[in-house]
Amino acid sequence: MIITLMGAPGSGKGTQGRSLASSLGVSYLASGDLIRRAMADRSRWGEQVRSYIERGQYVPDEDIVPVFLQALIASNPQGSRIGGVLDGFPRTTEQALALDEALRDFSPSVDQLALVLDVPEDVLIARLSGRWLCSGCNASYNVQTHPPIMVGVCDVCGRALMQRVDDRRDTIQERLLVYATSTRPVIDFYAARGSLKHVNGDEPELRVRESLLATARSAMPVSR
Ligand SMILES: [Zn+2]
Repeated sequence: MIITLMGAPGSGKGTQGRSLASSLGVSYLASGDLIRRAMADRSRWGEQVRSYIERGQYVPDEDIVPVFLQALIASNPQGSRIGGVLDGFPRTTEQALALDEALRDFSPSVDQLALVLDVPEDVLIARLSGRWLCSGCNASYNVQTHPPIMVGVCDVCGRALMQRVDDRRDTIQERLLVYATSTRPVIDFYAARGSLKHVNGDEPELRVRESLLATARSAMPVSR
């Protein structure tokens, strides 16, 4: 089964996606990781990706789709029983259609499930605005869930903590709006097909992990 995990910034999607994939024994494929890896390997494609990222643009479909599909196929060497948890892909309905097409060719019996991690906006804002990073060692803190021992000071190296521009209150609302607007068509796409499920992400991490796993398992065909 291919699971597409969707969730707003601050929903805990990355952490949850990784643990869901490991519980199901499948690979976790995040567009962010693939892009970082591509940029690090200095290939021609990697340099192309870098040029988009440095201009603050999304990597266009024709560049990201084949790479994602290749990674998905490469992580499933047995082929016929392809599976994985996808994070950040498909990001558009065009990408969702490209994924459909590739799966039809490669693994026609595979099931697809889209999971949406629901977290109320005020909770997202509180979570994101509580994030602080160390200016020295990059350790991350959250004033609500993982505060430093001394306010504004890194536990690990003693340097000052700072906030990323992205995590400041005024930019958070903008990020959430961009997320909601861009994800809506993909959510509608999978909902129309009856392969969309919502999971409450406004609960302790362990509870969310259990609900995601239970929801994924309940959607799996028993006969295969
Ligand atoms: Zn530090």
